[in-house]
Amino acid sequence: MEPMTLLDLVEADKNHECDGVGKDHICVKIAAAAALPSRFGDFQVVGFTNNKDGKDHAAFVHGDVIGQEDVPIRMHSECLTGDAIGSLRCDCRDQLEAALIALGQMERGILLYLRQEGRGIGLTNKIRAYQLQDQGLDTVEANQALGFRDDERDYSVAAHMLYSLRVKSVALMTNNPNKLKGLENLGIKVTRRIPHIMKPTEFNRAYLKTKQTKSGHMLAEQG
Ligand SMILES: [Zn+2]
Ligand SMILES: [Zn+2]
Repeated sequence: MEPMTLLDLVEADKNHECDGVGKDHICVKIAAAAALPSRFGDFQVVGFTNNKDGKDHAAFVHGDVIGQEDVPIRMHSECLTGDAIGSLRCDCRDQLEAALIALGQMERGILLYLRQEGRGIGLTNKIRAYQLQDQGLDTVEANQALGFRDDERDYSVAAHMLYSLRVKSVALMTNNPNKLKGLENLGIKVTRRIPHIMKPTEFNRAYLKTKQTKSGHMLAEQG
């Protein structure tokens, strides 16, 4: 049999239905795939629709990943202010670029671009949280003041995207132990963690410090 391509997956997913993944029974479908040459290397972009809301998630695929083991994966949560505008209130843009540069140099890898702005609380609420931070609260306190848990992200979408792409096991590029557990709890086999270390700048130092002390991120770990 010919090896499957992303276009085969688009065809196969036309009739995809399942009970969904996670507590919200989220189901995504590969709707389209196309070449995406980028400044970080040759990628293909895969567009996913889902059964819950109008948010189209995307996977940026480098090399052959279908049916592969130990595929390097970076899960990136959308951050309009950081990713697109270059905000220095967070390190999202640096993380995104570092991940794409690393993945582009590997034999294969996937960046899952998840449309969960502001750790899942949405753009407007993220701006409300910034407003509170401008008044002296830290990121965790600001989210709590708005009635959100520190991190509202759920990895069901990412897990289903990996199923859809027929990835057999993943090497997760992250410093956040919750991400490994989150995926493993949803049945994804994680072979190892690839550390993803960013250099602090004068602008994001306080933000990174909070991440480390309050959210259990492993920023000091190298190697
Ligand atoms: Zn499904
Ligand atoms: Zn950000």
